[in-house]
Amino acid sequence: MTVKTTCAYCGTGCGILADKNGQGVTIKGDPEHPANFGRLCSKGSALGDTLGTEGRLLYPQINDRRVNWEEALDLVASKFSDTISTYGPDSVAFYVSGQLLTEDYYVANKLIKGYLGTANIDTNSRLCMASTVAGHKRAFGTDTVPGTYEDLEEADLIILVGSNLAWCHPVLYQRIAAAKAEKPWMKVVNVDPRKTATSDLADLHLQIAPGGDVALFNYLLANTAKHGQQNTGFVNAHVDGYQSALDAAAADDVNLTGLSEQDLADILALWLKTEKTVTVFSQGVNQSSSGTDKVNAIINCHLATGRIGRKGMGPLSVTGQPNAMGGREVGGLANMLACHLDIEDSNHRDAVQSYWRSPTMPKQAGLKAVDMFDAVEDGKIKAIWVMCTNPAQSMPDADRVKSALQNCDFVAVSEMYSNTETAKTADVLLPASGWGEKHGSVTNSDRMISRQRAIAPPPAEARHDWQIISDVAKRMGFADGFDYEHPHDIFIEHAKLSGIAAALGKDFDISGLDSLSRQEYEALGPTRWPFPKSGGKERFFSDGHFYTPNHKAKMLALTHTEPSVPQSAELPFTLNTGRVRDHWHTMTRTGLAAQLNQHTGEPYIEIHAADAELLHLPPASLAEVTSPNGRAIVRVLISDKVAKGSVFMPLHWTEETAALGRVNALIPSHVDPVSGQPESKAAKVCIKKFTAQWFGYAVSLQSFQPTSAYWAKAKIVKGWQAEFADISVPSDWESYATSLFGLGETQIISVTSTDKSSARIALMQNNKLAAVFFASQNPVALSRSFVSSALGGDSPVLAGHAGQGVPDPGTTLCACFNVGINTILNAIQSQELVSVEQVGNALQAGTNCGSCRPEISALLHRNIVLEAAE
Ligand code: SF4
Repeated sequence: MTVKTTCAYCGTGCGILADKNGQGVTIKGDPEHPANFGRLCSKGSALGDTLGTEGRLLYPQINDRRVNWEEALDLVASKFSDTISTYGPDSVAFYVSGQLLTEDYYVANKLIKGYLGTANIDTNSRLCMASTVAGHKRAFGTDTVPGTYEDLEEADLIILVGSNLAWCHPVLYQRIAAAKAEKPWMKVVNVDPRKTATSDLADLHLQIAPGGDVALFNYLLANTAKHGQQNTGFVNAHVDGYQSALDAAAADDVNLTGLSEQDLADILALWLKTEKTVTVFSQGVNQSSSGTDKVNAIINCHLATGRIGRKGMGPLSVTGQPNAMGGREVGGLANMLACHLDIEDSNHRDAVQSYWRSPTMPKQAGLKAVDMFDAVEDGKIKAIWVMCTNPAQSMPDADRVKSALQNCDFVAVSEMYSNTETAKTADVLLPASGWGEKHGSVTNSDRMISRQRAIAPPPAEARHDWQIISDVAKRMGFADGFDYEHPHDIFIEHAKLSGIAAALGKDFDISGLDSLSRQEYEALGPTRWPFPKSGGKERFFSDGHFYTPNHKAKMLALTHTEPSVPQSAELPFTLNTGRVRDHWHTMTRTGLAAQLNQHTGEPYIEIHAADAELLHLPPASLAEVTSPNGRAIVRVLISDKVAKGSVFMPLHWTEETAALGRVNALIPSHVDPVSGQPESKAAKVCIKKFTAQWFGYAVSLQSFQPTSAYWAKAKIVKGWQAEFADISVPSDWESYATSLFGLGETQIISVTSTDKSSARIALMQNNKLAAVFFASQNPVALSRSFVSSALGGDSPVLAGHAGQGVPDPGTTLCACFNVGINTILNAIQSQELVSVEQVGNALQAGTNCGSCRPEISALLHRNIVLEAAE
């Protein structure tokens, strides 16, 4: 049976067809879904491999003791009730997630705001797009995303700001790439301090200084007016604040962008001559101590030119999480009420309270994420319930957050996985259902509401989040408000409330769906809001109507501000953070899919060659990265993609997957003063060589736990692999390897150098390779793809690479068809391939999800450059 559902990962919100069969679950893109029209990226394509019970939390636990649901729910309810009655409502908090379904999110928000009487609910979406919410509200009066994905195909110019779409929203990247191939005149500008896979698609890459975005868009605004290109009619009729915004823009210093005169002239020329311009922005804009100003600087330019509310133009924020938008709709942020209503507005509060018939309603915003965990640390919050997220890993200053949770009086955690950093701090663990097991809805970045549907029931005793929350609410005496039997009941309640919100002048209106029967809800196809009872609205702002009191949009007077992070001579490098192609957030799910671990197997730091030379960091060595907040040890990746003085580290590695790879342990908790979103792109760090005495690499059919100073572990197709390094050399390599793998009876085949500085040790069981370990004074040079594929075979593979004449595929580039980099390079050279399509025809690489197409394109380009140099 085919189940139509929606991807679990990024805010693109791709539709999926999931087929459960004897081999497991086969995943395909839904050709009818308007977000992806059948496309999927490598992460979405591998979702079938992430189902199952590996690592799952299967039963409720209290302090590591298995209990029944009654006991666990009673304890959560009594702890929250007692804490509120002793210390008041603001002594409790919920920290929730953009991965919750809208129905779960709605119920959590209703319980804490309407019944517990505090607005202390915030979400990991605060780390993702709170600056966009604040920027939209300042400019439009509401959190309205004006554009849609179709605008990307309609545009003649796309400006991507702080957005590596090729890796983070790959299907949107593919849509743009396809549109560009069809429209040769279409231009793409990529504004990013780092050259990324997305830059390969761009006609112009602007390697902007960290935090330089406001100065750049002020430059465009000032020069728009200078060239008489402002849309005076639109501005006069529909915009406030034009002149003051223009004056501030004209006074700003464009040199702070760090861009050359030529770069500035090039983007200005494109901007001035291209009316159909879409500016796409994401975490590079939002995750900033001036993120809200950056958002408004972009919107200012679109308002001044009237490039908004029409086909093929407008600002378009893309969210990082599958349901960040749904969370915004239900008021999942501490400063919002459901349906985009405002907590500070007494009419809005009264409307929500009377609709809910709830006993209470907070009059002021609750604590935003960083402040919330500060209050946990200070002991002001004494009971916290974390749902579906891992703040001890994902919050800035993560070690401090972890310690605050460890010291909190009461921590409840609803989770799918038992071993997250946050789960380890819990007094009560509540096993939750996850993707593939839940029914509900999510909203993607272009306001498309899509259904998630279950493929299988939750395992063991796991329950849905809306059920868990409602069961606690009932135990706290609020049965009337939480008498839900099905997510459909919640959806309808939310849809009805949106009609009330619309009558109060809000944009979010899905009242046209408030009479859906359960059957119609089950069958609901992708539906973009607004969806009012009175009939569809063509396009937000097409009539020049905004949601401010006078219905005019607001331009803001803005000036560049330096990233607000501690600076000192001892911290000479600026650390940017982000995602890799095949992983998502803290890898709890993507780490389960072996093919997704093959593209990037360990945490790394990307550093410019000149900086690496100064620091005596050769390629593949290890670097120790420190900040006032924490420390990491990561692999060195020397690259021309980052500017001198800047470095990049991915955010995915946790205590479970690496010894010291947690990038958020390095990040200070400095926030944007308007949105409360932390600055995650400009931490100051010190880097030095980690002087390892030995490096290692191992694979095993069975999982094993490294203990060296540096290690990074990943699931592979036939078992597990790990990289190692340490400062002290074991006295006996064979004993080291044997105790590392803990395999019991094995036959050992080993080669150790006479000075004991290197070793190769194979452990055979029943004449089959069960594990193999390599150690060397230098980073271990061998073919990892060859060694890992030899597991279970009859060769000890101590040579570490294929024999002469046996092809070595190299690191996997195409995860869908398992095609390695060497295979692609060989084909390019031997078959004289010159296009990504030709590589696809020859090897299939890049022909399924397309996530590797930018890298294949880079290999082709490299080959052309090499040929030209010969
Ligand atoms: Fe999922 Fe990839 Fe689509 Fe994002 S782009 S929703 S990760 S398939």
